[in-house]
Order: sequence, then structure tokens, then C-alpha cells
Amino acid sequence: MALFPQAFIDDLKAQTDIVGVIGDVVPLKKAGSTWKGLCPFHQEKTPSFNVNKDKGFFKCFGCGAGGDVVKFVELYQKMPFPEAVRHLAARAGMAVPERDGGPDERAAAAEREALLTLHDVAAAFYREQLDGPAGARARRELESRSLAPDTIATFRYGYAPAAGRDTLHGRFEDQKVPLALQVRSGLVLELEGGRVVDRFRHRLMIPIARDSGATVAFGGRALDAGQVPKYLNSPETPLYSKGRTLYGLDVTKGAVRKHNYCVLVEGYFDLAQVWQAGVQPVVASCGTALTSGQARILKRFTSKVVLSFDPDAAGQGAAIRSSELLVAEGFQVNVALLPEGSDPDTFVRRFGGKGYVERLTGSQTYLEFVLDRAVRAHDVTRADGRKAFLASMLAVAATIPDAADRDRFADRLAHKARVTEGVVRDEIRKAAVDRRKEVPAAAVASTVRMRPAEAGLLWTLVHRPIEGLAAVAQLEAEDLEGLVSGPVLRLAASLADVPPDLVPGLLRERLSVEERALLDRAARADQAPAPPADCVLALRRGRMLRDLAAVQDEIDRLPASGPDADRTLEALWARKKALLGRLEQLNA
Ligand SMILES: [Zn+2]
Repeated sequence: MALFPQAFIDDLKAQTDIVGVIGDVVPLKKAGSTWKGLCPFHQEKTPSFNVNKDKGFFKCFGCGAGGDVVKFVELYQKMPFPEAVRHLAARAGMAVPERDGGPDERAAAAEREALLTLHDVAAAFYREQLDGPAGARARRELESRSLAPDTIATFRYGYAPAAGRDTLHGRFEDQKVPLALQVRSGLVLELEGGRVVDRFRHRLMIPIARDSGATVAFGGRALDAGQVPKYLNSPETPLYSKGRTLYGLDVTKGAVRKHNYCVLVEGYFDLAQVWQAGVQPVVASCGTALTSGQARILKRFTSKVVLSFDPDAAGQGAAIRSSELLVAEGFQVNVALLPEGSDPDTFVRRFGGKGYVERLTGSQTYLEFVLDRAVRAHDVTRADGRKAFLASMLAVAATIPDAADRDRFADRLAHKARVTEGVVRDEIRKAAVDRRKEVPAAAVASTVRMRPAEAGLLWTLVHRPIEGLAAVAQLEAEDLEGLVSGPVLRLAASLADVPPDLVPGLLRERLSVEERALLDRAARADQAPAPPADCVLALRRGRMLRDLAAVQDEIDRLPASGPDADRTLEALWARKKALLGRLEQLNA
């Protein structure tokens, strides 16, 4: 069954300039009758990516990626076909003929539409409340944060009133919204005994939107001392998945694209303050470490990120995990450190936008930042210190996707550890290509950086063992290679047959002290950093990316010519294409 009439697809392609679409995200240069650029689907230094405007296709002679403009959007934006079609249609200003998706799909689509409308109603309601007499405390809060009316309007803050006469539930009732739908939105709660209340009461409200601008969730900040939690967020709903939403991008995406970089901050108000200070390409991860879903969204707009965290945050937890994820996803990452004790919000308020921009300008690359920290932590004038330093850095080096970048990193390492470059290069190559060497958990349990996906699975195993076991069962042994949480996940997989409620206890009993520390650390989070299904996907993707990097590494190291080299190259390309195909399936 065709999803769309072929005539429509033909029309859409005719209406769409493929050079325009691709040129938005890949710098292209005209070369004779075609356009050339660096392939966005593999790492390369000389352009082998071609776009044929007249015939309407693209083709990479490096990795073999190719297809029409819809295919490009599917691959580049990581969208399934129907979404890619809608995306292009919206761009071309064409109406999409309704696809016949069957009753379930139509019902789900109708529900999502209704929920979007509800969020618009809610945003308007909260805004009204902020401007009304009840909103005085929230207005004072905004004033105390020195946020200008223009900023307040841009980020559409609102106020959720305390329980009383005016409630969002009441507004929904006035509009005859069915109670089930109200509850489904996550904005209204049905308590035991049937009492219905607003989820957000007496809070400063922050609408959270997709990059398209549609409001899909809210964050609510406490206004009184002792009101807990300080930040309350919408739950996951059919509209909203925390791991797939980057706060602020709806407002800042134009600036991100224009400047081709993005400052990554942690909180809603860090973002507002930085934006107000004139640094407009900025997004917020909102407390937790970045997910690969969020990284992929950002990748649509830029592949350069400057992390802006306070030094405490950068030293541990979310910041480090976010950086590693970004590096592994092929981002160019810089780290801008602020003085001890200040976050972007407080820093900008104290030192102004100019001081902040100076910090950004003075940022160092993530790898330099990591190197400096490691050098400080080890005594590299002694042989054992050098050894420990190199061992800790090998794991980092193995995550660098590009072979040339990896070699450069090796040279920096060699310089810092005062050993010969060749030695380090060889070691790194081994670690990157043959990643079976697991970092010994014992040495690193307290400081080691887990990927969000690993932490998410560990969290779920402890708090929701049924879901956790189901997720672990979907992973293959190879997916776990090289993961610091590998031993924990492998043990969990071996517990598939025991009653789930026993699993957390059994894990703790059978793990080593260090592994248990890892598990406990992940379990301490208030909520899972990412839903288990996302974690499984991320780990699978991670494995594909590692395999791809290894194949690419071999390709990059082949001699330029000769019959043997050609044959090997062909075999490597075949492997690479197969991997890209599987990666694409995972992304679909
Ligand atoms: Zn390519």
C-alpha cells in the first residue's frame, strides 16, 4: 500500500530544489554540471559527495550513500519516509494528501492533535494568570532574575495558580475537554478517590516546545521556599519525550544555523540569561545529560557545540557524559569554564554579556580540557603515573570517530606524557579498532563516565526490573563491548529467568564492589535519564558507530593503490555499506 499517491511524490520532487535542501545543511560548491561537498554521512577531508540538480539526486562516492531529495531528508534528518515527505511538503508549501493509515493510526494522530491544542490552551491560560492579580509572586520572581519583558514574551513564561477558583482543569472543563484527554496531557491529575487537580500549582511555568515551535510540555519552577521539587516537569506523554526535546531550540534555531555553533547550558534560566545577553545560539539540556536523540536533533542545525557549565558540573556527571556523547556523535566540542560557584545565569547577571562572551572565546577544545584534567590528576614525571595517565586517556581516544583527529590527539598525549608519538598512536589504534579491551571497572568505578543509555538501563533494572530485563534481553553481547556497565548488563541478561523483583538484590549480591558502586550511582537518580527503549537503541547505535569507525579507520589506512588494496577496499566498502544500512534501520 503506497503511503502517498505517486503523482504527489513526483510533484513534490519537481517543486523541490535538491541543491537548496542539501545546501542548507552541507556547504556545496558548483563543479561543472554538478555540486560538490563534504559528505555528511561519513568523515572525509576531500569532497566525494555530489548533487545533481537537474536529475534530482545525490551520490557519495566515498560511502555509497545516495538517492533523491526525500532520501536525503530521511538520512540526514533521521526521519522516516512519511515524515520526510511532510517536511519537504511544508517547505514547498504543498498540502499533503491524507494517507490511509488505518483506524489505530488515525486515532493516535487525532489524539496527538488534540493534545497539542490542549497545550496551547494551557500556555495561554498560564500566561493570562501571570498577567493577572494571582501572578504577582511569579512576576516578582522574573523581575528578581532581571529578565526583560521582551525575554519574558519570547520564552512565553506563565504562572500556574495555587489550588483555588481558577484552575487549568476548570478551563479545560469550560471547553468540554474529555477528562481522559486532560489526564493524558499530564497537565491534570486524577487522584485516588476521583478528585481532579492541576499537576502544576503555584509555579512559574516554562513552556517546552519542539524545534518546530509546538508546545509539548511544561517545566514549573517552585516559587516558595520549601516548595518541592524545585523544578517539576511534565511526564512523558504521546507528545513529549524528554530525551528527544532540546529546550529553547524553537527560539534559537535560526541563530544556531546562522552562526553554525551552539552554546549548551543546563537550565531554563541559564538559557534565558545567555540569550538576553546577546548570545543567541544556545540550547539547554535541562539538568540531565544529553541523549543521543537530542544530539541528533542538534546535528540538524550545527555540529559545533560550546559547553558552558560551572566547574563543579564540568568535573563530573552530566557535563562529561554530554561531552563524550557529543564527541562520539561527531560534534566538535569546546568547553567554556566559568569561575567556581557560578552558572551561566548568575555569571551573566554579575559580569554581563561581554564577560560571558570572553569566556566563550577563551574556551578550549573538549579533548584539551580532558587532557589537562588528566595531567593534573596524574604525576606524569613518574613511570607509573605516565602509565595510568595514558591508560585513562586511551578510553577517551577510542571514542574519537575520525582517524586523523585521533592521531592528532595521540600526538598531544605523547607530548604531555613525554613518550614517543608512535607508541601512543599504536596504542590508540589498538584501542579504537580492537575495542575488546574493557576498561577495568575497579580502577574507575567512582569517576568513570557512563553513557546516559547505560545509566538509564541500570536505573531501570533497579527501579523497574520487569522493564529493565525486557530491555536488556534486546541487546546482543557485541552491543555491550567496551561499555563500563558491560559486566552489570551481562549479569542482568543472565537473570532473565528469575522473578524480576529479585533482580536488584541478586545484582547487588553478585557484582564486584566497583560494579555495585556503578549500579548504585545510576540508581540514585530521581528518574531514569532516558526511557529503556531509547537506551537500547542508543547502545545499538553506539556499537554500529564503533564498527563503522573501525572500518573507516582501516579504509583510511589503506595504501593509495595496488590490486590488493583495491580488493580490500571493495570488501571494506561492502562492510561499511551494510553497517550504514543497519544504522539507517535503527534510526527509522
Ligand atoms: Zn559519504
